[in-house]
Amino acid sequence: MKNGVVIVGAGHAGVQAAASLREDGYDGPVILVSDENELPYHKPPLSKTFIKDQEAKPQPLRGEAFYTGSTIDYRPGIRIDRIDAGGRRLEISGGGVLAFDRLILATGSRPRILPLPGSDFSGVVSLRSLADARLIRELSAQSEDVVILGGGFIGLEIAATLKAAGRKVTVVEAVDRLLGRAVAPVIASHVRQRLEATGV
Ligand SMILES: Cc1cc2nc3c(=O)[nH]c(=O)nc-3n(C[C@H](O)[C@H](O)[C@H](O)COP(=O)(O)OP(=O)(O)OC[C@H]3O[C@@H](n4cnc5c(N)ncnc54)[C@H](O)[C@@H]3O)c2cc1C
Repeated sequence: MKNGVVIVGAGHAGVQAAASLREDGYDGPVILVSDENELPYHKPPLSKTFIKDQEAKPQPLRGEAFYTGSTIDYRPGIRIDRIDAGGRRLEISGGGVLAFDRLILATGSRPRILPLPGSDFSGVVSLRSLADARLIRELSAQSEDVVILGGGFIGLEIAATLKAAGRKVTVVEAVDRLLGRAVAPVIASHVRQRLEATGV
């Protein structure tokens, strides 16, 4: 397999797929492609300390030495626009192709953007990537009031974090309870009381 394995997406799934290929003895080329310009990083801190602490640094999933030491060819800043499955090639945004013998898609998910007038205003942001978290950190440092749409884990983590950082925080949730897809009503009610006690 001269072109080896190409993995599109360098989140947890993509990076672990690359690591597992090597751990299980695959010795052909492994190319890991990401449309982000970062060393692959942990997402959980982004809704917690990272957005309130101006000094906080991203936490890499693996150090740079892992990629060179495991001969994993990490290519940041490359967006794949099209898969030519028959020709076993990927088309790169802006031009260029990347050939593969095997392809792993690890492109993750993205937040739903509300199809509402105003959702494209500056100051209306969603949180998925490190770039989003940097923007939220920058904007919230200059804002007194923050409104969060969505009372799931990530929304509530942002609420608690920014409240602790001194912002006035309001959470808007469409149904009559928080964390509706994640925990039992008794836990959700406890979380709500804890947040309301802090002034959210
Ligand atoms: C703010 C936040 C906090 C979280 N906290 C927790 C937590 O506390 N506990 C927990 O268990 N989980 C948490 N999660 C969820 C967890 O981070 C995800 O389940 C995990 O990131 C999924 O990994 P993934 O590799 O499937 O996708 P992703 O991490 O989304 O990675 C996919 C990558 O593919 C790239 N990509 C997409 N399309 C292309 C393309 N066409 N070309 C090139 N690259 C492309 C994307 O830009 C991205 O870098 C959190 C998520 C977020 C956003």
